[in-house]
Amino acid sequence: MKICVLAGDGIGPEIVAEALRVLDVLRRDGLALEIEPALLGGCAVDAAGDPYPEATRALARAADAVLLGAVGGPKWDGLARELRPERGLLGIRKDLDLFANLRPALVYPELAGASALKAEVVAGLDILIVRELTGDIYFGQPRGIEVRNGERVGYNTMVYSESEIRRIARVAFDAAMKRNRRLCSVDKMNVLEATQLWRDVVIETAADYPAVELSHMLVDNAAMQLVRNPRQFDVIVTGNMFGDILSDEASMLTGSIGMLPSASLDAANKGLYEPIHGSAPDIAGRGVANPLATILSAAMMLRYTFGLADAADRIEKAVRQVLAQGYRTGDIYSPGTTRVDTRAMGDAVLAAM
Ligand code: NAD
Repeated sequence: MKICVLAGDGIGPEIVAEALRVLDVLRRDGLALEIEPALLGGCAVDAAGDPYPEATRALARAADAVLLGAVGGPKWDGLARELRPERGLLGIRKDLDLFANLRPALVYPELAGASALKAEVVAGLDILIVRELTGDIYFGQPRGIEVRNGERVGYNTMVYSESEIRRIARVAFDAAMKRNRRLCSVDKMNVLEATQLWRDVVIETAADYPAVELSHMLVDNAAMQLVRNPRQFDVIVTGNMFGDILSDEASMLTGSIGMLPSASLDAANKGLYEPIHGSAPDIAGRGVANPLATILSAAMMLRYTFGLADAADRIEKAVRQVLAQGYRTGDIYSPGTTRVDTRAMGDAVLAAM
């Protein structure tokens, strides 16, 4: 099992170091994990003049999975667009054809108070949003701004092919099979033909997954239900634009950006795993960042790319335990809990494992 590790910039190296210590425990216990470090983002621009250098491309392509910290920072903000760290991130996602974005939003009971919603609405929340990542109105042609009848007109095209819908639906049904077997497909079929096809193809795909209970919801209602009663959902699948908005809405239900992992998968379940937060330049180098989102990203990698549910459970259980024991980094600290730094949080997870 080859893992390409891209620590990146800012707090990236600090949080990735803790995830690697967790993977080391599993290696010592017999898992055959091979770790290959490489450069992506600002550090790659500094070392090789390219945010996604050829050497990284070769390693990422050869690996079974990629574990990423975060990229970017003020040091590189003034560079030409093609040299910006974010270019490295977009480059690797496109290069590896990662079309399925999986974002869990999970509220640990101890952290329910951090949500902007009432604790009783979100306590125990555990949903997974599966967002299509390479199609939809963001990529559809034709697009542009032009003058018609003497005024400027802007236009984009929402377009999905059957095969694009079917492959993301399969990822979502497969994910639901690994969870509570309930899938809600979100569309806007009452006004958009592209999403009428979306609904039709999702229903056709459901025939292969009789164990999964499929439901459908219009996107406006889904946005409302996510704040009204988010615990009604298990897995949500939706297109690129609706998913962009709903996944950010769902992550904010949890209130703690330092806790949330994500995965972006290709058709063969190869994946790029990363925390949803950025490189946090404001706290970089101080050893205080929360490493749990990155550690949980490593757990997702074991679950989704390598099919090692037991190893993933072991990590996730350890994270639950350290929270129950009261350990908190600064971002999730509240009075009455024990404030720890990045390394001590890693130590606590290792001890719980
Ligand atoms: P950010 O997520 O880096 O930080 C937002 C706030 O959350 C900051 O106050 C930060 O200190 C805090 N925070 C984030 N992660 C934390 C953690 N693990 N522990 C404790 N606190 C944490 O977002 P930003 O400030 O808008 O962006 C900073 C840089 O990161 C920019 O250069 C941006 O382009 C980049 N970025 C990268 C990614 C990525 O690599 N996938 C994603 C988003 C932003």
